[in-house]
Amino acid sequence: MRNTAAALAAVAASAYFAYDFRWQQGIVELEEEAASRLDVASAAVFAPTQKFGYLPELLADHPVVVNALRHPQDRQRAREASRYLERVNASAQAAVVYLIDGEGRTIAASNADAVDSFIGRNYAFRPYFQNAIANGKATFYGIGATSLLPGYYVAQAVREGGRTLGVAVVKVDMTQLDQEWQRNEDEVAVTDDNGIIFLSTRPDWKYRPMVSLHAEALDEIKRSRQYGTMLKPPLPMRTVRTLHGNEAVVSIVGDGGNGVRFFVRSRPVEGSGWNISVFIPLSEVEARAWRVAFSTSGAIGLILMTLMMLAQAHARAEERESARQALEKKHSELQALSEELRAASITDPLTGAYNRRFFFESVPKIVSTANRHHVPLSIVTIDVDHFKRINDMYGHPAGDKVLQALTVLCKESLRESDVFCRFGGEEFIMALPNTDAEAAAQVAERLRVRVSAHAVEIKGMPGGITVSCGVSQYREGEQGIEAALRRADDALYVAKNEGRNRVVVR
Ligand code: GH3
Ligand code: MG
Ligand code: MG
Repeated sequence: MRNTAAALAAVAASAYFAYDFRWQQGIVELEEEAASRLDVASAAVFAPTQKFGYLPELLADHPVVVNALRHPQDRQRAREASRYLERVNASAQAAVVYLIDGEGRTIAASNADAVDSFIGRNYAFRPYFQNAIANGKATFYGIGATSLLPGYYVAQAVREGGRTLGVAVVKVDMTQLDQEWQRNEDEVAVTDDNGIIFLSTRPDWKYRPMVSLHAEALDEIKRSRQYGTMLKPPLPMRTVRTLHGNEAVVSIVGDGGNGVRFFVRSRPVEGSGWNISVFIPLSEVEARAWRVAFSTSGAIGLILMTLMMLAQAHARAEERESARQALEKKHSELQALSEELRAASITDPLTGAYNRRFFFESVPKIVSTANRHHVPLSIVTIDVDHFKRINDMYGHPAGDKVLQALTVLCKESLRESDVFCRFGGEEFIMALPNTDAEAAAQVAERLRVRVSAHAVEIKGMPGGITVSCGVSQYREGEQGIEAALRRADDALYVAKNEGRNRVVVR
């Protein structure tokens, strides 16, 4: 469970980091794209403003212009000036070239003959007029008060001997400019000193401030009729993340009410208070980042799942192995126990000799071997003489000691293949394969002599103990050992009757 949670966290983290990594990479690509796009777009804005920058200055020095402004009421001179301006503009190709007298009234214009000629119009309210009178030179972007067309105005004061006669103006048509920009998905916008968009690839962005305007700025714009009635509420734009000073991620609410995220890069337009910005949609970068995040976290998830499965399989294998080992241990314990039990079942606890049960279990094999190979097999029964007396005189534990000592003696006289058992009470029995009655009697005799020679002693017992033995040889063809046993018993009975401490063969 804890492993699963950790794995999920690792997958989520890998998705996050993969997304962020790819996103940053995408932003770097967009930065380059935006920079080159800005180069092209700002060149387009900059070119006409520069191209016509010199023209008003030339006009201001021309005698026809000066002459006309020196006598603003002289219609003849004004007409001559208009002719001249018309000729100049035929080659310059500005929108309109015109002269304004000191009062703000237009006295000559390149469009003198047009229906909507500027002649007679008063532009005293226009900032370019006021600024040119005050500073000698002025530029201005605005909607034409007469033409209602957007334009760039370059104005130059016409002076003579320190006296200002009026202003020469060149209006540059910029209506075509934003159409030339249409390209791909990018959007371009140029803002004026107040942050109002006046050129844009997006018609619906035009004449909207990028940020809310101050009241004074709004008043000034209205007074100068800069944007006439075209001014609209601010662009519904929100900065999501500022990247560098001139780069940001913004969200702009579109027609559908959904925010569209753009990467924005801006730069000032040289020689003006304007700014040009390029907006590149982030959808592609985000989609790519998501794809990378999904595939990375998917791969990591797969690897983790495989590892977890392997770990589980390993744990199961270990469990099985330890279960197997436990079983094996139990099995060997059981085996040891059953061996112990088996040993206990065939062993006499007092003397450690085999018991009667073992004798009857092992004898059939010996009998069949004797039959098969025609080899002798003998039985010796051994019985302690007057054992009851020993018990009576020295105690039962002393009797036990005698039985134990006698067992040791008997075992010493045996061969590997011989079978020796405590048959019951103070009676023992031997089965001696490959041994005839005579040899068996010798074995019994040696034992009897050793016992009677105080080999088995009890403290304080003066006479020592003796044993009587009955010997009998198995006769080939006999069914089992019983007949031989009976004969050995008979022999023992005879030995007892004949005075004990002796070996009798039957
Ligand atoms: P005999 O010479 O005729 O064999 O005389 P006996 O006294 O040895 O024979 P009997 O059969 O009369 O007595 C056997 C005694 O052995 C009786 C019994 O109390 C004793 N006895 C049997 N088993 C044990 C034992 O495990 N420990 C002890 N201390 N005595 C035992
Ligand atoms: Mg007995
Ligand atoms: Mg006895």
